[in-house]
Amino acid sequence: MMPSRFGKPSGAMIQLQGVCKDYSGVAALHPTDLSVSAGQTTVLIGPSGCGKSTLLHLMAGLVDPTAGTVYFDGQALSPRTIRPLRRRMGYVIQGGGLFPHLTARRNVTLMARYLRWERRQIEARLDAMLALVGLDAGLLDRHPGRLSGGQQQRVSLMRALFLDPDVLLLDEPLGALDPMIRYELQEELRGIFRKLHKTVIMVTHDMAEAAFFGDTIVLLKAGRTIQHGTLKSLVRQPADPFVTAFFRAQRTVALPKGA
Ligand code: ADP
Repeated sequence: MMPSRFGKPSGAMIQLQGVCKDYSGVAALHPTDLSVSAGQTTVLIGPSGCGKSTLLHLMAGLVDPTAGTVYFDGQALSPRTIRPLRRRMGYVIQGGGLFPHLTARRNVTLMARYLRWERRQIEARLDAMLALVGLDAGLLDRHPGRLSGGQQQRVSLMRALFLDPDVLLLDEPLGALDPMIRYELQEELRGIFRKLHKTVIMVTHDMAEAAFFGDTIVLLKAGRTIQHGTLKSLVRQPADPFVTAFFRAQRTVALPKGA
């Protein structure tokens, strides 16, 4: 890879150098080096409590590392750089994280209004986002409590994409949905990611979902990255017996013998 003007390899949208995070002296993430490629979907996966959300929060600058540096497009995240850089990230938290007292429209347009976009510009972007996520415009005047789980996730995605961020960070975005809605949204989301060519980082604990979305998979265990690579490389060249054990533990549907 060619070094960029910041001395970081080009092609990396997010880089972690020696990043770790302790809570009360206990490591949620041990020192980690990681490079997330631009324009790809990277999935963070591993058992509950392994540090997936912590890693995502560090990348988003939502928590400060105990040591090490996170680079976003070559710039170190710091109190001085975080505000402009955060506008280049869209974030969808578990369960959508919509403000319950605001209508869907006000949730989606919150940042654009704060940044004093013109009304015409906001309306045009709203139309584009509605078409992208396949939401009925009539639902925009409802509060989140009057939307289904799937509709809330579509609104959250519209909000995250509204400022046209370079990076989309998603923390178990489909975790709370029933299986059929989840299946439908998985298909649609992947279509959206492919269309937009954004850098996407998604947390999940579901291997099938990781395989469905991930150009690259980062498998974590107890606050450490065990393997980072394509699904094929994880299956064919597991870096640790845990990788194989993790795959095996994810059941697929199989009929009992003789059924
Ligand atoms: P995952 O997303 O893989 O389930 P997390 O990143 O949420 O894991 O958590 C990793 C570890 O860090 C867990 O042991 C969790 O209890 C701990 N942890 C996460 N956030 C906090 C926090 N704000 N305060 C204290 N401990 C935390």
